[in-house]
Amino acid sequence: MTLTIELSELKSPFYFERTADYVSRLSLNFKEKGDYYITNCPFHTDKTPSLFLYQSNGTVRFKCFSDKCQSGSWDIFAFIQKIEGCGFIDSVKKFASYLEVDEVILPKGNILKIHD
Ligand SMILES: [Zn+2]
Repeated sequence: MTLTIELSELKSPFYFERTADYVSRLSLNFKEKGDYYITNCPFHTDKTPSLFLYQSNGTVRFKCFSDKCQSGSWDIFAFIQKIEGCGFIDSVKKFASYLEVDEVILPKGNILKIHD
């Protein structure tokens, strides 16, 4: 069976815990605080945790509240691109592969196959 999912669904709260689990594998020590997670921001010196992972308007978001982060707000794909230094398609492949999704329908309707 082939599991095909639209890109926007991968950012939905349905995958909130798995998003937290995925980024925790990137040696980000997220701590659960009820309905959100926090950790020290990896993009600058951060003595008190400034990076939040939370749900907003039906989307899972990352946001850094430190003054040191210029545009510190990302969805899972933008976050993977920034922390892993890869492009958009690779960020989709990494996260979808972790979720064991076979195909992702991109915003323009193209189908991205994950396992080839
Ligand atoms: Zn930051």
